Amino acid sequence: MSETVDALLPLSFLEAVRNIDSPVEDFEAELVGDLRNKRLGLSETVYNQIRRFNESVKRGHRAPIDEARGIARLLGRRPDAEAVFRVAGRHLAEESYRTIGMLPRAMMRILPSFVARPMALGHSRRIARRYLNASISRVGTHVYLEVERSVTQDSAPRSVGCAYYEASLKELLRLLVNSVGAVEHVRCATRGEGACAWRAEWKPTSGAQE
Ligand SMILES: [Zn+2]
Repeated sequence: MSETVDALLPLSFLEAVRNIDSPVEDFEAELVGDLRNKRLGLSETVYNQIRRFNESVKRGHRAPIDEARGIARLLGRRPDAEAVFRVAGRHLAEESYRTIGMLPRAMMRILPSFVARPMALGHSRRIARRYLNASISRVGTHVYLEVERSVTQDSAPRSVGCAYYEASLKELLRLLVNSVGAVEHVRCATRGEGACAWRAEWKPTSGAQE
């Protein structure tokens, strides 16, 4: 069977271009007129693809990894590719975070960190595995996100596509436990280092105790 990704992953790419390319105000929509339809994010193809991936997400169907890679390459050609990947990464984090029940979400926010952090780690592991085909591990005061087969690798020059995973990790940790520490890209497949890996600070926020 060919390799697949959760449909939320390609959907996050398309939602990002749609958001970025949408006129901010209604009056702007009138001004741009037909011109806006020529922008990738507003094309009919993108709308149709969004509808299709939304349907797949609802039904729990996965998408072929090659299709996701194809969309990533389209994004990668844009001059604002890095910004689009970051928006997409945050979108994926938000949507996957919503798959956690209301109660555990609230508990992770209010319980002392020695209880909240292991819970958050468990959820982040599940989310990384399911939605990013990635793994998360904790080493001391850091968590590592490791992506063996990046969907965005080679979609844009240098390691621009890596911004997608970096933004997802950062946003996910912020949503889970309000962690806003530094996230560092410590290994990169584009530099011939085998896989991409990020290291994020995993320290309780000031005042909390681990
Ligand atoms: Zn990388």
